Amino acid sequence: MWLRKRLDLGWSDLALGMLACLRPGGAGAAQAELESCWSSTGDALACLSVRSGFDLLFAALNLPRDSEVLISAITIPDMVRIIEDHGLVPVPIDLEVSQMAPQIELLRRAITPAARAIVVAHLFGGHILMEPILELARKHGLLVIEDCAQAFADQTYRGHPQADVSMFSFGPIKTATALGGGILRVRDAELLARMRSRQAEYPVQGRGAYLRRLLKYALLKAFSVRPVVKIVVGFCRVIHYDYDRMINGAVRGFAGPGFFRRIRQRPCPALLSLLKRRLRSYDLRRLERRTAHGELLAKLLGERVIRPGAKLAAHTHWVFPILVDDPDRVVQRLQRAGFDATQGQSLCVVPPPEGRRQLQAQAADDVLAKTVYLPMYPELPRRALQNMAAAVLEACGQRRVEVSLRPARVTTTSAARPAG
Ligand SMILES: *Cc1c(COP(=O)(O)O)cnc(C)c1O
Repeated sequence: MWLRKRLDLGWSDLALGMLACLRPGGAGAAQAELESCWSSTGDALACLSVRSGFDLLFAALNLPRDSEVLISAITIPDMVRIIEDHGLVPVPIDLEVSQMAPQIELLRRAITPAARAIVVAHLFGGHILMEPILELARKHGLLVIEDCAQAFADQTYRGHPQADVSMFSFGPIKTATALGGGILRVRDAELLARMRSRQAEYPVQGRGAYLRRLLKYALLKAFSVRPVVKIVVGFCRVIHYDYDRMINGAVRGFAGPGFFRRIRQRPCPALLSLLKRRLRSYDLRRLERRTAHGELLAKLLGERVIRPGAKLAAHTHWVFPILVDDPDRVVQRLQRAGFDATQGQSLCVVPPPEGRRQLQAQAADDVLAKTVYLPMYPELPRRALQNMAAAVLEACGQRRVEVSLRPARVTTTSAARPAG
């Protein structure tokens, strides 16, 4: 079984993280070193997570009650929750599916006098075009907040130079993870200073809690070795245990009660130093290999399989989603073929504010209802990608499918027809 995802973290990182938990010392120096490693101009702020930084940002902005925050219609539910907790109104902007970017015309129409900020997410590992958004935002005096949590691309992208805030996440399922941590770049020095002084009042994350987290993921990593996965998945099937739910639950950060109390903490020194190590020594070949895998799989699937974000520029394929009419069936077929595809449960469609049903994001609804994520990571061999492409095409209703790597074309015995 090819698992849906691999932890992007090595055994040596885990070991060094654990050692760092045992070392005494304060967080101040580690924090400053990490921030200057991310940006040499002093505009970076290291936080416990993107959600922590996002919450801190709104606390420091202190916008008038009921101000509107325009937001890409697909994000993680906690981002919406944070906006609402600050007495603000999230206003979804529906997406253009081939780019997974807010539709500019809808964005223009959604701007009211109460609008103060726009939050745009770069989804799935690609980068959306920021210029049209920045231009519109400038005209209306909106703050532009970039959510780059899924779009880590090492040195090549540290946020758009004109965005007001750019946020990167190093949570467990993210690229170059440190099992936590978020780095924000905040252009307005005065706003940054307010965020910094507020964060200084937060308690520091317990080193014991971080150590437990490192141990938990070491265990998950050990369990993601292929023969072990086969046994675990087989066992879950026998006892009718929902293995999909189990995985999604296990990797969700800040689940359970006390959400705001838990995000309002400072990262501990061990997390800061592991994150610094990750940024300094991240093996770029991993990103390159994943990117190449994504491109190859896209080619093998061809035009018959619809991919949200297919036209995204600079795509590193953090995940590889496809749209199908019957996701349950496709997931089952792929599972049977040895690929742990999943419908995913971490993203949501932002609901429209009360009384503005016309803002219901229909394209986003459609995407989430039809998405299946295929396994995608550097460790996949090319052979597995070929087999996966064949399995996808079969599951999508093509009969006998032959997939060859060279030429990178898909040949079928039946006439080409769209997915589903
Ligand atoms: C993961 C993610 C976040 C949250 O990042 P944390 O660092 O875990 O808080 C926010 N937005 C998007 C789009 C994400 O994928």
